[in-house]
Formats: sequence, C-alpha cells, structure tokens
Amino acid sequence: MTRPIYLDNNATCRLDPLVLETMMPYLQDGFCNPSSPYRAGARARAAVEHARSVIAEAFLCSPQELLFCSGGTEADNWALRGVAQVLKAKGRHILTSAIEHPAVQETLRALALDGFFVTEIPVNADGVVDISTLEKNIRPETVLISVMHANNETGVIQPVEEIAAIASSRKISFHSDAVQSAGKLPLHFGHLGADLIALSGHKLHGPKGIGLLYVREGTTLAPLITGGGQEMGRRSGTENVPAIVGLAAAVRIATENMRTTSARTSALRDRLETQILHTISDARVNGLDGPRLSNTSSIRFAGVDGESVALAMDLKGFEISTGSACSTGSELPSPVLLAMGLSPRDAQGTIRISLSRFTTEAEVDLAATALVEIVARLRAVSSL
Ligand code: PLP
Repeated sequence: MTRPIYLDNNATCRLDPLVLETMMPYLQDGFCNPSSPYRAGARARAAVEHARSVIAEAFLCSPQELLFCSGGTEADNWALRGVAQVLKAKGRHILTSAIEHPAVQETLRALALDGFFVTEIPVNADGVVDISTLEKNIRPETVLISVMHANNETGVIQPVEEIAAIASSRKISFHSDAVQSAGKLPLHFGHLGADLIALSGHKLHGPKGIGLLYVREGTTLAPLITGGGQEMGRRSGTENVPAIVGLAAAVRIATENMRTTSARTSALRDRLETQILHTISDARVNGLDGPRLSNTSSIRFAGVDGESVALAMDLKGFEISTGSACSTGSELPSPVLLAMGLSPRDAQGTIRISLSRFTTEAEVDLAATALVEIVARLRAVSSL
C-alpha cells in the first residue's frame, strides 16, 4: 500500500482526478478573461455562469445568490465584515459560538477592536451550542449571529435551522460557516434559513483558492474587495475560471455520491473508533454523543500528548492531525475542546482523524494498529 496514508481530510482533501479533468481546458487554451469582448472571453463567462447554475442546483438556491471568492476564510470575513459595515448604525452586538474556526473568531476579534460587542455562546459536553443561552443573550442591538454548521475539529453538527428561525423571527442577520459540512451533509440553502453561508473548494475534493458565499436574496452586504465590479458588482477581481469550474464539478460529484460516501465513511469511522476504544485503555471520542459528521473522529488518550502521537504516526506513514492544532500549528490546547469542558491536558491528548470517500478499510485498519502500538510506546515513557 502506498504511503503516506492520508487521514486529514478536514484540513484539506486531494483533488478528485475527475475535477482536475474538468479544469484542464481552462488552465490551457481556455485561459481568457470572462470580461474580454471576444468570443473566447464569452466562452469563459459561459463556463463561470454554468458553474454557478450547477452549484445552485446542488444547494437548491438561485444562481444569483452565489458569489465566488477565494475560499472559506474570505467568505467568512466577507459575511461578517460586510454585515457589520452595513448594520453598524442599527446595532453593534454580535452573537457567536465558542467553537468557531479562526476565520470567524479572529474576524470577530477585529470587529470587537472596532467597537462591536461580541458574545460567545457556550457549547455542552457534546460540543453542541446551547440554543437557550443564545436566545437569552439576544439584545435589541444584536445585528448578527454567526454559528458554524459543523465543527472542523470534532465534526459535531450544530442546530443551525433552529438558530436561523430564532434569528429570522428577531430580524437578525444569520451567517453560518458550512465549510466542513458542504458536500458531506445534504444542504438546502433555502431550508437552512441562514442569510449567509460560507464554503470552500478544497474541503470537498475541489481546488484550493476558491470558495463561495451564499447571500440570500435581499441581504445587503458591503463588498470586502472593490475593483472592477465582477461577481455582480459585489466581489471584484478577475474570476478564477479553472477553480470555479473545478468547484462546480466537486460540488456535483459530492452531491451525487453523498449517500454512498456518508454510509461508507461512517462505517469506516465506526470501525476505527471501535478498534481503538476496545484496544486502548483510557481512550475517549470527543463529541461521541453529539450529532457528528460521518468522516470525523476526535479521540483523546490519557497520559500522552496528541502532538507526539501525530508525529509518531507521520514517521510510520500516516498523516493525521492533533486536536490542538489550528491553521498555524499552535501548541495551545484547542479552544474548541476546552469549550466542551475538557481539561487542558485532555485537550492536548487529542488527535483528529478525518476520512474521505477515497479512504479504504485497509487504511483505517493499518492506522488503528499503528495507533495502538504508538500510544502504548508513548505511555511507557510518558511522565504526563
Ligand atoms: N471554516 C472552517 C470550519 C474550516 O475548517 C476552514 C478550514 O480549515 C475554514 C473556514 C477556512 O477555509 P479556507 O481554508 O478555504 O480558507
């Protein structure tokens, strides 16, 4: 079996070869600018608009509600800063959860420095946001709620439909980061009820550097990037045509295969967790009793450091993540796990394994065997 074995699909996914195939013509002869006045420009424009309708069909919304941008981080920044700018005269209070991705958390921190008041709503031990606390914290000046659809570290799914209903009844804008759930859970943008939804190409076997923001019809949003007026005047910059075409192909493939992928990854994840929990003492799955994405497993081992486990796994040819690492490789305990009530030591003893439709049973079995050996070896020498 070829090594390394990749088990870190919540960090990023391999590009599906079928997606690459659809992109190739636009990386080669079809390179023209969609705004150019000749026929090749019109063909590039048609490719962009076709991609938009394919994605709209998958998420059951109107193509005009989908705006392409550079990825999940930009989509989150745009949603939060764009709403804050438009609504700051109406109110300056924002509600969010304690488990958001840094793309949301850091952006809200920046808005707080700019005069906004941000309240973080706690989650329960399963990692699910506490809706009654959220409701109690709504103030007359609350203009925005931002709660993610599924958490990147634990895979725990949040009750966004209920939050959307609360937000809508109070006339508060609602943004949801669906970067991890898109392509894994059925997403009907209209039914979900959020005004703004962020997603990213490279988390669903599409290319990097492309994402989109769903902006529900009628939602006013200031632009984040100004310039030539692309994307219906709302997000400037020459369109990344190959990546847009690739994103549409990735969304289509993920949607068509969702049922089988989800059945497959949940069976593999359960197999992995069963092997680990049955063979390694003092191992626990974080968020086990919450509703979880079928591909994500956040596991903690008493008496070892997740970072050491991930390093040892890498040396054996397995790519997994720690529970603490965010994008910058921070060694601080994960705020997400701390918010779920884990002690700093338990948070630091956590690893994350995230599967994809390309993961095989043999890979999962080899990873479980390697983990059993590594945890035993590290525990034998650990002072934790
Ligand atoms: N939101 C979540 C939940 C994520 O997991 C990530 C990436 O890890 C992002 C946002 C950022 O997306 P991107 O890497 O496309 O900027």
